[in-house]
Amino acid sequence: RPTVVFDDVVFGYEPDRTILQGLSFEVPAGQQVALVGPSGAGKSTIARLLFRFYDPWSGRILIDGQDIRAVTQASLRASLGIVPQDSVLFNDTIGYNIAYGRDGASQADVEAAARGAALMDLIERLPQGFDTPVGERGLKLSGGEKQRVAIARTLVKNPPILLLDEATSALDSRTEQDILTTLHAVAEGRTSLTIAHRLSTIADADTILVLNEGRLAEQGNHAALLRKR
Ligand code: ADP
Repeated sequence: RPTVVFDDVVFGYEPDRTILQGLSFEVPAGQQVALVGPSGAGKSTIARLLFRFYDPWSGRILIDGQDIRAVTQASLRASLGIVPQDSVLFNDTIGYNIAYGRDGASQADVEAAARGAALMDLIERLPQGFDTPVGERGLKLSGGEKQRVAIARTLVKNPPILLLDEATSALDSRTEQDILTTLHAVAEGRTSLTIAHRLSTIADADTILVLNEGRLAEQGNHAALLRKR
């Protein structure tokens, strides 16, 4: 259960425009940290730096004490499981879509992994079985069903760090509640960083970081932040 550390990270996409202004924060092992802040604050930029789509101008990003520039791309990707806002599924079966998270996994492998990761519940709540084709020539899944498949695909790899990037923001509010419950259950005990657009979706986070113009404006748990408003 690794720790994620941003240590005085400065970054911008263009030389004359700094987006992250010396940002420092920590996601302690096994804890759930959430990032909120207005659009443009730099939340997605943090996710991109974590995946090394870009490197900081200065400062360091550490996973388990190790600078991520010193680890291979493959091992970095193995340690990070992402659930994005809008998951794209393959025009193939549900099982294939989930197993894609592990190269060459058979349905039995996926089921075993799903059981191990307490995912069966999630999969069993899909209205159709593993061999149901989805996508263009198959079944059209609802937004919530798609997110369940995407969550299963990510979790079947058992990533030590979970990155939820507005994973429910494309859903209607009832489906959102349902998926939030699922995410809460699967994030339990994992090191997770949640990027959120609303405070109400991250009430359970151990720590909430409020980002504004590339700086930490506030931090605390949900109750503490609500008291200040
Ligand atoms: P958030 O996720 O909090 O909405 P982002 O991290 O996406 O914010 O963006 C932070 C700032 O960086 C914004 O001002 C945005 O316009 C800018 N930005 C994002 N991506 C790029 C890019 N590829 N090139 C230039 N500027 C970008």
